[in-house]
Order: sequence, then C-alpha cells, then structure tokens
Amino acid sequence: AKRAGNGIHVFYSQEMNQRSLELLKLESDLRRAVERNELSLHFQPQLALANGSIRGAEVLLRWNRPGVGPVSPAQFIPVAEETGLIASIGEWVIDATCRQIAAWRAAGLPQVRFAVNLSARQFSANLPQAILNTLARYAVPADALELEITESMLMSGTEEVLVMMQELGDAGIHLSLDDFGTGYSSLSYLKRLPIDTLKIDRSFVHGIPDDADNSAIARAIIGLAKNLRLTVIAEGVETVEQLAFLEAAGCDEIQGFYFSRPLPADEFAALLRRHSV
Ligand code: C2E
Ligand code: CA
Ligand code: CA
Ligand code: CA
Repeated sequence: AKRAGNGIHVFYSQEMNQRSLELLKLESDLRRAVERNELSLHFQPQLALANGSIRGAEVLLRWNRPGVGPVSPAQFIPVAEETGLIASIGEWVIDATCRQIAAWRAAGLPQVRFAVNLSARQFSANLPQAILNTLARYAVPADALELEITESMLMSGTEEVLVMMQELGDAGIHLSLDDFGTGYSSLSYLKRLPIDTLKIDRSFVHGIPDDADNSAIARAIIGLAKNLRLTVIAEGVETVEQLAFLEAAGCDEIQGFYFSRPLPADEFAALLRRHSV
C-alpha cells in the first residue's frame, strides 16, 4: 500500500482484498461524516460514591454510518487517527460538547462536568487556544470541561505536548488520566502535570472482587490517588459486587453499565434532572 498525496490509501497489490476495500470505503465515508452531520455524542454518567450524585459524564462519540448503522468509535477512531481526520473530528467533538453544555446550562440543568477524550494525534500547536476559544464562544467556564488523556499519549509525547497540557490545566480545564495502569509507567508525569483525576481502566475492574490480582491493582491505584490527593474513578463498573469493593476501598467515583450505559443527549438530560431533585 502506498500513500497518495491527499491521504487516501492507494493499493497496488493484485490481491486487493475485501478488508482493504472496506477500509478504503470506511475512510471515504468518514471523510464526509462531519459535514453530513452523521456524528453525535453520547453521555455516560459518572457517579460520586459519597452521595450518589451525578458529578459529570464522559462524552462518547457515535457515528451513524449511512447504510450500515451505528459504528463503534473503537473501529473508526483508529482510522481517523491514521488518516489525520481526527483533527476535524476532534474539533467537532469539542464544539458540539461546548454547545451542548451551554444549552443545558441555559435550560437550568445541574451544572456538572463533561469529560472529552483526546487523541494523541489531535495535538497541534494551536489545540489549547482552539479549545479555549470554543469555551469562550459558548460562554462555558473552563471547569465545566474535562479532558481525558492517556498514558501512551504522554509517553510518546514531546515536551511540547506536556507544555500544552500545562496550559490547559492552568486555564482551569480538568485533566484526567484515562486507562490508568495499562500503558508504560507514567508515575513521573503525575508530578509534572496538573492531573486532577486517575481513571482505573476497565480491564482492572473486570473480575473484582474475585480476581485477586485485579483487586490488588485497583486498591493500589486508589491508594496512589489518595496519597497524591487526586480524584479516582473506576470505569467499566458492571456489578454491585464491584461497586461495593470499590466503595470500601475508597474509590471516589464510578462509571459503567451498573449505573448507566452511555445515553443520547435527551436521555442523559432527563436522567440528570430526575437524579438531582
Ligand atoms: P474509553 O475512553 O476507554 O471509553 C470507555 C468505553 O467503555 C466506551 O466505549 C464505553 O461505552 C465503554 N463502557 C462504559 N461502561 C462500560 C461497562 O460497564 N462495561 C463495558 N464492557 N464497557 C463500558 P465506546 O463508547 O465504544 O468508546 C470506545 C473508545 O473510543 C473509547 O474508550 C475512546 O478511547 C474512544 N473514543 C470515544 N469517543 C471519542 C472521542 O470523542 N474522541 C476520541 N479521540 N476517542 C474517542
Ligand atoms: Ca475515556
Ligand atoms: Ca487541574
Ligand atoms: Ca478508558
């Protein structure tokens, strides 16, 4: 496969197989997804264990692909990263999130925080300013926004990425370290960056409390977070047993199917309203 100037893959092999064709089609469809308004946001509540309140939501991208139906971001985000489309898609996510936050605030909904996933490939010199401009355009305060970054992003990142994270943190945007524990050890970054929250990866939540190793890892991450005075949230919580273990271990927040799946905007708004009265 060779890369043409416009970023579209051109395959010279005789054995252009079904998979390559599908990937090519996926890419060209994805290229049009933003302008055709096929992307939407889902919101998965994050619950504070201290009082059971909804303290925020993770914003999860959805693509309703014509003729196919909903496509998982796990499938198309890697393609978007590979092709550079992540820049415009990422921009759309931040814009749509801020627009939604502003609308919900205007409608009198409880003012919670919204966590957007950032991709390493999304980083460019003007990203911090672009995010701050978007917040300003919708008059959304910086602390209504949280950015989820990953360890691998920090490890592969240049000094420039670290400086950008500093800038965003200093502006009052919350930063959370996603999939914590799955990447290379990044403990030094916990000191260098204005990280607010550690997110225990779903793979460690799986099987607790019966899985002794995962239980130990979850406990250790919670302990680390406490000692560094960071908030700690567990993702992928599906059972009441997991919830009970995490609560007893001192975890601050949970997110997962146990409480709610990611919801379309109107359903999340209704839940937030119901839950806060
Ligand atoms: P992630 O950041 O780790 O997001 C959490 C994923 O776990 C979501 O999958 C969510 O639906 C799923 N999940 C939540 N609770 C549970 C649970 O209790 N059990 C199980 N089995 N799964 C649960 P989703 O929405 O398919 O997203 C997949 C990945 O795509 C995300 O993983 C994230 O890395 C990426 N992604 C999603 N939206 C965006 C976006 O706007 N920008 C970027 N760059 N990446 C995104
Ligand atoms: Ca995430
Ligand atoms: Ca901070
Ligand atoms: Ca995650």
